[in-house]
Amino acid sequence: MAPMQLTVIGCSGSFPGPDSPASCYLLEAEGFRLVIDMGNGSLGVLQRHAELFGVDAVCLSHLHADHCIDLSSYWVARQYAPDGPRPPIPVYGPRGTAERIAGFSGEDPTNIRARFDVRDLTPQTREIGPFRVTTEHMNHPLETFGFRVEHAGWTVAYSADTGQTDALVRLAEDADLLLSEASFQDAENNPPNLHLTARQAGEHATRAGAARLVLTHLVPWYDRERSLAQAAETWCGPLSAATSGLVLGPGAAI
Ligand SMILES: [Zn+2]
Repeated sequence: MAPMQLTVIGCSGSFPGPDSPASCYLLEAEGFRLVIDMGNGSLGVLQRHAELFGVDAVCLSHLHADHCIDLSSYWVARQYAPDGPRPPIPVYGPRGTAERIAGFSGEDPTNIRARFDVRDLTPQTREIGPFRVTTEHMNHPLETFGFRVEHAGWTVAYSADTGQTDALVRLAEDADLLLSEASFQDAENNPPNLHLTARQAGEHATRAGAARLVLTHLVPWYDRERSLAQAAETWCGPLSAATSGLVLGPGAAI
């Protein structure tokens, strides 16, 4: 069985950066393509790694624009495809997903649902294609889900956006890879219950016993080498920072 492959499409935190779209990750296994989050600019870069209509399912961690706004662009592509509208694909998101995308698009939610089979996420384990996907609520101002995705004995956990939370430690327990947001750096005035510092990302990875930590959701105005140095103070294992185009997985040489 071919191993799972995770391609970082976008890893820029809060808004697109010069070298990366905002949050978007492509997971592939057994010919199935699952996209988690579709932040600003991600639909363009996604087409370097997957056919425009080759996406089988989408998960949205939450409804901040930098995690979901390009789903409205993808709706346009699927609605107005030259050979006619494309059949709906499953879109898993927090309650209100169809309405949010409709708002971005200036459309009625009914039209969004004609192209996307929108399903409410809840904290649970479900099968999506060949993947076993476990979701938990994260610590962020609006409903946000973190993910644990398992396939053929390989496990990746994704924090989405979150402040400190034991739920992330549970999702990442003994995972092969923790893809953790590290929006903040050490400072006195970081707001609570919003984002993790790189140091806190390292702490969560250590507590979870993850095998590898990749920092993501890195905000363009912060120096990533400094973020890596701060994470390394609480995390002793393999550590790197996500970049657009980075391929991760059991078969990837990283
Ligand atoms: Zn957010």
